[in-house]
Amino acid sequence: MAYMSTRGAEAISAPEAIVRGIAPDGGLYAPLSLPCLKKEDFASLAKMDYPARAAHCLALLLDGFTEEELLPMTKAAYARFDDPQVAPVKPLGKGRYILELFHGPTLAFKDMALQMLPWLMTASAKKQGEEREIAILTATSGDTGKAALEGFKDVPGTSVNVFYPLGGVSPVQEKQMVTSAGSNVYVTAVQGNFDDAQTGVKALFADPDFIAKMNAMGKTLSSANSINLGRLAPQVAYYLSACAELMKAGVIDEARPLNICVPTGNFGNILAAWYAKRMGAPIGKLICASNRNDVLSDFIRTGVYDRRRPFHKTMSPSMDILISSNLERFLLELAEGDCGRVTSWMKQLKDDGVYDIGADLLKKMQENFIGGFADDVRTAETIRKIWDTEKYVLDPHTAVAVAVAADYAADSGDQAPLLIVSTASPYKFAADVADALGIPVEGDAFQAAIALEKAAGLKAPAQVAELKDLPVLHSRICEKEAMGEAVLAGFEK
Ligand SMILES: *Cc1c(COP(=O)(O)O)cnc(C)c1O
Repeated sequence: MAYMSTRGAEAISAPEAIVRGIAPDGGLYAPLSLPCLKKEDFASLAKMDYPARAAHCLALLLDGFTEEELLPMTKAAYARFDDPQVAPVKPLGKGRYILELFHGPTLAFKDMALQMLPWLMTASAKKQGEEREIAILTATSGDTGKAALEGFKDVPGTSVNVFYPLGGVSPVQEKQMVTSAGSNVYVTAVQGNFDDAQTGVKALFADPDFIAKMNAMGKTLSSANSINLGRLAPQVAYYLSACAELMKAGVIDEARPLNICVPTGNFGNILAAWYAKRMGAPIGKLICASNRNDVLSDFIRTGVYDRRRPFHKTMSPSMDILISSNLERFLLELAEGDCGRVTSWMKQLKDDGVYDIGADLLKKMQENFIGGFADDVRTAETIRKIWDTEKYVLDPHTAVAVAVAADYAADSGDQAPLLIVSTASPYKFAADVADALGIPVEGDAFQAAIALEKAAGLKAPAQVAELKDLPVLHSRICEKEAMGEAVLAGFEK
């Protein structure tokens, strides 16, 4: 197996792709081919615990790594999760299941990959003979930042710089980041939105002057965003795991595939579901759920990706994104590996803000993908409705997915079993969730968590209560044009 850049740069091994993060031509590393699992393979996966499942799947996806080598890493990575199943699948009534991916230390699904990435990164650096410090640069819409800080803090041979949009993340998300301890962590608020932060980070990866300065300090750049292959691969594992479990339970099989609905921002999580499908998992439709920033649902409906539209701040901030990086990997497959076409679409997106994949490819995409969106009013209604009917508390991101999946089922009459991917704990967004449930809250997000705990009888994770009293350690703010200087200044201090 090998990984090629979506924009044509030569194919390289998994360890090299993980260390680099992004390809030199600005493309993302994508698999040339994917391994295929059979029914028996899913049966044997179902017998393993989560770390063993993950090690098995990662060995299939990442050339240069063996299962034996990966197992101690997955064991260590998932030991910090507060559910013994790590990524449990729970029934939600009416043929729906929920895949809970928020049991890690930062309460969002990003931990599934970012607790693992430091292990993959340091092992890859060793395999590559890379002796420089790996300086991780990451833009965050709220959850990646804390998960990266938590994963990489005090990991020898690495440092991590996180950029978040000032005023663009939830109070709990911001507090989580600015209180991050660790000798190698740096956090900066950017005066702009998430797309500005993400574009700024990508520009630094392509800035020879900045790279030279970093190299002179003995550092090489890498990414902890979902553009990094080392983020994507652990995400494929939980889809294969969930399918193995639902096959074992007799809910799905080849003749009765599973629809999956994913609350989507950068298209990384849903792309992993697509890879799981290509690897032989019995998956039917992939439902891409957006909030009011509905650029992806429009794209799946029309084949036109048009980011020329207002950017909305919503109650699901981790999905407030208009430029979905990982879509590029899917486009490469749609274009049957024609990187020239992908490069040209990406250039049009950059120059004109829009591209059109044409009717044939649109049809091909729609064979697998469905798009839909839910605004904040609908999201809040959904949180309330699922609590009333199922006594389950959804976070706002997951509620977007529940609403969009319901629309799809109503419109299409498709009654296939449905897996809803839950990407965050409701306690991470306690104020909005309490509000949606009509629970009166006096005070801040922390008071809201207490109120929610009382009303819903669901214990708040310890991380939320502890956060309240932690000291703020990071207060740097920069202009979106000055992110490089912020990184250098942090290291010089
Ligand atoms: C990051 C995130 C998303 C979006 O995931 P993508 O892989 O970027 O599509 C959705 N929900 C939550 C809670 C997140 O943190």
